[in-house]
Amino acid sequence: MALATAGTVGPSLSEKARSHVREVFRRLGVELREGSAVVAPADIDADAVMWTASLRPNTELAARAGLTLGADGRIAVDEYLRSVSHPDVYAAGDAAGAWSRQAGLLRMARATALPVGTRAGRNAAAELGGGTPGPLRFRYRAQVLSLGRRDGLVQMVRGDDSPGDRVVRGRLAVVVKEQVVRVLRSAAR
Ligand SMILES: Cc1cc2nc3c(=O)[nH]c(=O)nc-3n(C[C@H](O)[C@H](O)[C@H](O)COP(=O)(O)OP(=O)(O)OC[C@H]3O[C@@H](n4cnc5c(N)ncnc54)[C@H](O)[C@@H]3O)c2cc1C
Repeated sequence: MALATAGTVGPSLSEKARSHVREVFRRLGVELREGSAVVAPADIDADAVMWTASLRPNTELAARAGLTLGADGRIAVDEYLRSVSHPDVYAAGDAAGAWSRQAGLLRMARATALPVGTRAGRNAAAELGGGTPGPLRFRYRAQVLSLGRRDGLVQMVRGDDSPGDRVVRGRLAVVVKEQVVRVLRSAAR
């Protein structure tokens, strides 16, 4: 099995965390091809290919409806999650270029979609009920990765998602990841 990436593996991780990822891949027999962009079928010789090259917002309908999009194709919103061009429209999740003063522009993730969706819903309800919408207050704390069933990684990060020094590896990271998934799953119900 091989994993090809145009850049380095785990570009958002610290060097310490990245070397753990490389070590786990070595142990699991995964050949890591860093700096290896796949641009044509001939670039990769395989029986099966799983394409996981990032997320792309599905905002074509929003653009056709006249909502302003940001440079990354997401719906441009203010810190209340209102469209900058149509403030009576709220946007959340991968489709929205949500940002907070603490974290800057948020990346597309379930970990960000949930608090942003909650804030957008609360703001819409407040507006309809005569209340006062509040700004999104969000800061990152950690990036949590599964590395197979028996290993994982918790990269502690600063509020703006940049990696700090603290890294948790191995079984403890697996337990943390499972807890995070459990909490996110119950929050989504
Ligand atoms: C393989 C994979 C693994 C991931 N792992 C993680 C992870 O470990 N941690 C993490 O934080 N994030 C992870 N993510 C990202 C995370 O899943 C997304 O960021 C998150 O689901 C975004 O939530 P959302 O509600 O904006 O969009 P979605 O969950 O994609 O929901 C959008 C919904 O809108 C529907 N829809 C779209 N267009 C229309 C339309 N025109 N009419 C009606 N319905 C429509 C879709 O069918 C879908 O049900 C992962 C994503 C993938 C693909």
